[in-house]
Amino acid sequence: MTTRPLSPLDEKWTRRLVQAIRCYHDLGVSWLAFPPDRQRGPFHDTWHEWLLTCEREWRAARTPVPPASDDVPDREPPVTSREHAPVGVSVQEVIKPSSPSADEWAADDPGLPATETEWSLPAMSAAEKAAALERLQQLELGECTRCKLSDGRRHIVFGEGNPDAGLMFVGEGPGQEEDRTGRPFVGRAGQLLDDMIRAMSLDRSQVYIANIVKCRPPGNRDPETDEIAACQPFLFRQIEIIQPRVIVCLGRPAACLLFGRKTSLGALRGSIIPYQGARLIATYHPSYLLRVKPPARQKEEKLKAWTDLKLAMNILGLKVPASNRQK
Ligand code: SF4
Repeated sequence: MTTRPLSPLDEKWTRRLVQAIRCYHDLGVSWLAFPPDRQRGPFHDTWHEWLLTCEREWRAARTPVPPASDDVPDREPPVTSREHAPVGVSVQEVIKPSSPSADEWAADDPGLPATETEWSLPAMSAAEKAAALERLQQLELGECTRCKLSDGRRHIVFGEGNPDAGLMFVGEGPGQEEDRTGRPFVGRAGQLLDDMIRAMSLDRSQVYIANIVKCRPPGNRDPETDEIAACQPFLFRQIEIIQPRVIVCLGRPAACLLFGRKTSLGALRGSIIPYQGARLIATYHPSYLLRVKPPARQKEEKLKAWTDLKLAMNILGLKVPASNRQK
């Protein structure tokens, strides 16, 4: 994996984006969110659009160039259900004996800000983060009707977990059970995610879990572009508040959104991308891991997901438990 050198244009966009975010916060306006008693005006739309453009440009400029390999397809077949990984895609080997460690990846990356704090808001205590998340949920999200997914939902699934978590998981959207309970990842996929978290020597109370859309798409279809656009500011704000060290994207939609690339999950797995002071990692969605057949292939895919999680553990300084070392 090589990284595109930082060009003067990249640097310009990076500087402008940082300035814009700081300016926004100096104005006391929550980034990409509006108090419920204020109407969005043309000024806000222009400002938001410009910020989003900055961010897209910056992410595109910072996107690593994947190695040329016949194993990594340019495109994957369209995803027609909540199965988040392509069938039949040969996924690149993520960790090879000669691969650099996560620390080396980070050290070699010319795109990392000089200091991590360049991306972050003023440091917040766990209590302040909890209060900020509460405000975001109650005052800014509220009983949101910003997109058509509000029509059929029973509960908004905001996200849950440790507001001061070092590790954050981001999935695609709530399913039936999540819509019923208002909690993320509580069905069978949630149980598998719990197992994955436990395999990392953590438990659910130590991580934060959220989705890119907070309301259930009908029939568990993929969220549409306008729905993601309407809801993504709340995810971005959650990340901004929590300031995790590692974000694990579960499935292609979440990975494409945060990596800023429309490509296959196979092309994103194995990359460690800096993102607002955190590191992004992509892996399979638990619901895909549950559905993949036959059992031998399912085991193979789970091992690949475990390889991805070990990348996160490496960055977090977690030791792989002896019982899981041979997996
Ligand atoms: S999906 Fe997000 S933007 Fe759409 S209604 Fe639900 S909370 Fe609002």
